[in-house]
Amino acid sequence: MAVADCIFCRIVAGEIPATRLFEDDHVLAFADIHPSAPVHFLVIPKQHIPTLDDVTEAHEPVLGHMLRVASALAKEQGIGDTGYRQVINCREQAGQVVFHLHLHVIGGREMGKMG
Ligand code: AMP
Ligand code: ZN
Repeated sequence: MAVADCIFCRIVAGEIPATRLFEDDHVLAFADIHPSAPVHFLVIPKQHIPTLDDVTEAHEPVLGHMLRVASALAKEQGIGDTGYRQVINCREQAGQVVFHLHLHVIGGREMGKMG
């Protein structure tokens, strides 16, 4: 169910504009508004899941779908061969600021080591 004050639920509902890259019944992909690399987009479940810690067994199909959609879009965006990262931040110390689960897809430049 949509959460009224959630920015990503509002993007799903079309109440806030976004550069939409892909959409189906379960997921939405859109460009990150503050890209940290030449290619940076987000893949989100349409359903409001706050963090990775809220994922249940019932969510496993949509999480797997997000990974595959992300890879297909990465290819489409031209970074399939050079490589890219898929990142999910969980809670404050990881840098999560939007509490609607989202998968970052980042590429188009050399990445440093994680950490
Ligand atoms: P995180 O820090 O993992 O919670 O990532 C949140 C991401 O959402 C950041 O990279 C923001 O730039 C991005 N973001 C926030 N608001 C919007 C928006 N309205 N449209 C697109 N991306 C957004
Ligand atoms: Zn939400």
